[in-house]
Amino acid sequence: MTTRRTFLKASSAIYPATILTPLAAKAQSTYQAPKTFQRDYFKEIGVTPLINAAGGYSAFGGARMRPEVAEAIRYGTYNKAKVDDLHDAVGKRIAELAQTEAAMVPSGATAAMVLSTAACMTMGDKGKIEQLPDTTGLKNEVIIQKNHRYTYDRALIVAGAVLVEVADEDELRKAIGPKTAMMFWLLANHNPDGDSINMETYLAIAKEHNISTYLDGATMTPPASNVIDACNLGFDLVGFSGGKGLRGPYSTGLLLGKKDLVAYARANSSPNSRSLGRGMKVAPEEYIGMMIAFETALGINEKEDFARKRTIFSRMSDQMKNVPSLKQNVIVDEGMVNELYLDLDWDRSIIKMSNEEFIQELKAGNPSIRFRALKFAGGRIHVSSTALDEGQEIIVGKRINEVLMNRV
Ligand SMILES: *Cc1c(COP(=O)(O)O)cnc(C)c1O
Repeated sequence: MTTRRTFLKASSAIYPATILTPLAAKAQSTYQAPKTFQRDYFKEIGVTPLINAAGGYSAFGGARMRPEVAEAIRYGTYNKAKVDDLHDAVGKRIAELAQTEAAMVPSGATAAMVLSTAACMTMGDKGKIEQLPDTTGLKNEVIIQKNHRYTYDRALIVAGAVLVEVADEDELRKAIGPKTAMMFWLLANHNPDGDSINMETYLAIAKEHNISTYLDGATMTPPASNVIDACNLGFDLVGFSGGKGLRGPYSTGLLLGKKDLVAYARANSSPNSRSLGRGMKVAPEEYIGMMIAFETALGINEKEDFARKRTIFSRMSDQMKNVPSLKQNVIVDEGMVNELYLDLDWDRSIIKMSNEEFIQELKAGNPSIRFRALKFAGGRIHVSSTALDEGQEIIVGKRINEVLMNRV
């Protein structure tokens, strides 16, 4: 398990792609997902499949579920139980695994934010729950640091709350009042603006005024033990995506923390028909899928998993080793999220192709292969193995070789 100190530090290391550690690929799952199917649905309806070399991005279908998760989902489609009973039991098990008071499975990290805001505004009051998103007479302000404003913060106003931006400790103290429902914190691996208020101070001020706190840690896995660490930071509620680094079902997440607040979040959600979150429904089989995804992810030995990913990159690299000027380095991103990427770079005077052209050409090809130029890495191309199926690394390497050699 990572300690809080390593959890909060951020650094990265670079290694040549060809150097391999001798660790065997033991982290590979024991189950094998079926590769052949009776019908090809994509083909039947004219959908172009893609190979995702970019990572677990929502637009590309999220992460690849481990076979254990697919198996759990299959179980859940056959075996039925009362949804609330199932959710109680799944929540209890997830809370045990995360070593925290309580947990639920929302339909993603976004839903976790909506439901948590609703929870903090209504505190289990049935009348208030049914009143949302009308917040007349309710505490309806969510405090957020200016630096923490981001794409997903709309989720904080969906339930009817308004955002109150603060830039420093002084502004924070002034912003707190009788209308304050929740104080929000964004935990990110690459937050360019950083935190303008120190986390300990933020939490201490919240405690002083008895205000509930929420931490968005959506992308802060792997390792899955980061979920445990995040629960120990001192926030009342913590949210994660299920379909990103935890490799659970696409439309799931984790909401963990204080028992009463998690219960209030659930009261604002499906299957409660009169709740704001009724539409943020999670299938019963996905509850089990998320639980098993978390359990499986916690059991992954990080060193072995890194060794497995290095092997994948090494096989990929072999396919393009003759491309002149192509530099291939395995980058170890050792922030809160520990992840390996294959960084690609070439001499533009030898291979006349820009990163953007590279991305477009591989996207347009057959098979279509998706990459992303990473903003936090200065627009460089980082290949991710997270969403690749076994053997796809060879196809990807061969296509990159072809595309680049064409421009030499
Ligand atoms: C992806 C993301 C979310 C939304 O997660 P979903 O599980 O897709 O709803 C929220 N916050 C951050 C920081 C994210 O990266």
